[in-house]
Amino acid sequence: MTYDILIVGAGTAGMSCAITAAERGLKVGVIEKSDHVGGALHWSGGHMSAGGTRLQREKGIEDSIEKHLADIYRINNKSGDLDLVEKAVKEAPKTIAWLDDLGMQWSPECPRIIYGHVAYDTARTIYGPEKALSILKVLLPKWKAQVSNGSIECHLENTFVGLGKTDGRYDTVICTAEDKEVRFRGKNIVITSGGYGSNPAYFQQKHPGIPLVSSCYPTATADGHVILEQQGGQFRFGEFHLPSLGGMEEEEGSGRVDFNKAWAMVLTSVYRQPRDIYVNALGERFIREDEANPEIRELTTMQQPDWCFWVVFDEMALNAPDENGNHNPIIIGRTVAEMKEEARKENALCMAGSIEQLAEKTGLPADNLLKTISNYNDMVRTKIDPDFGRNYLEHPIAQAPFYALKVHASVLVTFGGIKVNSELQVLNAEGNPMPGLYAAGEVLGLGATSGSSFCSGMAITPALGFGRVLGRTLS
Ligand SMILES: Cc1cc2nc3c(=O)[nH]c(=O)nc-3n(C[C@H](O)[C@H](O)[C@H](O)COP(=O)(O)OP(=O)(O)OC[C@H]3O[C@@H](n4cnc5c(N)ncnc54)[C@H](O)[C@@H]3O)c2cc1C
Repeated sequence: MTYDILIVGAGTAGMSCAITAAERGLKVGVIEKSDHVGGALHWSGGHMSAGGTRLQREKGIEDSIEKHLADIYRINNKSGDLDLVEKAVKEAPKTIAWLDDLGMQWSPECPRIIYGHVAYDTARTIYGPEKALSILKVLLPKWKAQVSNGSIECHLENTFVGLGKTDGRYDTVICTAEDKEVRFRGKNIVITSGGYGSNPAYFQQKHPGIPLVSSCYPTATADGHVILEQQGGQFRFGEFHLPSLGGMEEEEGSGRVDFNKAWAMVLTSVYRQPRDIYVNALGERFIREDEANPEIRELTTMQQPDWCFWVVFDEMALNAPDENGNHNPIIIGRTVAEMKEEARKENALCMAGSIEQLAEKTGLPADNLLKTISNYNDMVRTKIDPDFGRNYLEHPIAQAPFYALKVHASVLVTFGGIKVNSELQVLNAEGNPMPGLYAAGEVLGLGATSGSSFCSGMAITPALGFGRVLGRTLS
C-alpha cells in the first residue's frame, strides 16, 4: 500500500496536513511515535498571529498581511528565511479563517498585543481559552471523521527511524514498533516531527555550552532532524537561539520546567512592576528589573553564569497589592498562601529569616548578597538607581522572612531547524531538493519563520499553515 502522502508526526503541522489532504480525497498515512495525537498542542500557549482576520475587522483593528510582515521585519531586523516568513504571514489569516470555520472559540480579549515578546504594533495575537488545546479540540472531530472513513490511517506507537528511496526518490519511512522494523510507503513524505528541546544531547551538539532547561513537549527529541541530516539535510539558524525567561525547576538540576504550572513573571515588567531584585550567581544585580523589553532581558540573562538568576524579595513585597489592588505574586497564578506553601518545599523558592540564611540556602555568596541588598535599599530611599537606571523603586528588601526564587532562561521552542525551499522541499548540501521529501512545523526551526527574535505566534501559526499548504498542494 502506497499512501499519497505519508506524514511523520501527528502533531500541530502533521494533523493539519493530514486533514487537509484527506479532505481532498487523498489517501494519507500518519506515523506517530507516542500513543496519542496532538503533539505540542497539549502544552503550547497557542498564541497565533495573523494580519487581516475576521476578529480584527469586527473590532475595528486595521491590519493586513503587509503590515504584519513589516512589523515582523521591524522586530527581527529582517532575519530568518525571508521566503518562508512571507509565506507564513500570507498563510496566517487563511489558517485563522479555517479554524474559525471549524468552530474555534477565541478568548474574548483577542486579538491583543502581547508583551511577553517584543510587542507587535497592532493587536493581532489571537488564542483560545484553553491555549493550544482549543485548537486541538477543533481539529480532533475532523481528524476522527477522516480516520473513520479510512482516508487517514494513523499508526500510533510507531517510531520513525529512517528513510528509504527508490530510483533516487524518497518513498519509504522506516519505523520501529514493538522492537520490530516496519516500512511504510508514500508518494510524498512529509516530516513534521517537531523540535529538539527535549533531547539534551542533540541540544548540546548544536548549542555547545548552553544550559538546556526545557519546557518542550517530551516528544520533541530531534528525531526528524537527525534522520534528515543523515540523509544530507542542512541544519541552520541555531545561532538565533533565544530562551524564554521564567522557568522554575521542580527538581534542582533536572533541566525540566513546566510553562503551564510553575512560571515566574519575569518576561517583562509590563504585566507586573518589580517589587524585587534579580541577582546572578555572584549575588549581584545585572539589569534594571523594570526593563519592559523581553529581548533585552533575555539577552542580558544569557550573559549571566548558567543563564539563571534569583528573584529576591521580602515579606512586605510578597503581601503588597499592586496599583490595581491585585496581589500578583511573582509566580504566575499563585496566591500569597500558595507562594508560602511553595517556599516550604524549598525547591526553586527559598524562604529564610535573614539574608545570611537566604544566602546559605541558595548558595549565593553572603557578602555580595548583603551588599547588593543594602545598595538597593539605598536606591529605594533616594529613588535613584545609579547602576542600571531602574525607575520603579517602591519596595525595600527589609522585612523577614526573605525569599529567593531561582528562575532559568528556558526553552519552549527551538530556533534551529532543517533547511527547506519555499515549496517546503528538504534541501541537500548543494541546495537541491531531496526528491519526495518535505518538512513543516518546528523541525524547520523557529529561526526560519521568526528570525532572530520571538515574534508572537510565529511557531504555531506557520506549523498549522505550512501543514495545510502541503495538504493542499501535494498529490
Ligand atoms: C509550553 C509551550 C508553549 C508554546 N507557546 C507557543 C505560542 O504561544 N505560540 C507559538 O507560536 N508557539 C508556541 N509554542 C511552540 C509551538 O507550539 C510548536 O512549535 C508547534 O506546536 C510545533 O508543532 P509541530 O507540528 O512541529 O510539532 P508537534 O506538535 O510537537 O508534533 C510533532 C509530532 O511528531 C511526533 N514524533 C516526533 N518524533 C517522532 C518519530 N521519531 N516518529 C514518529 N513520530 C514522531 C511527536 O510525537 C509529535 O506528535 C509553544 C511550545 C511549548 C512547548
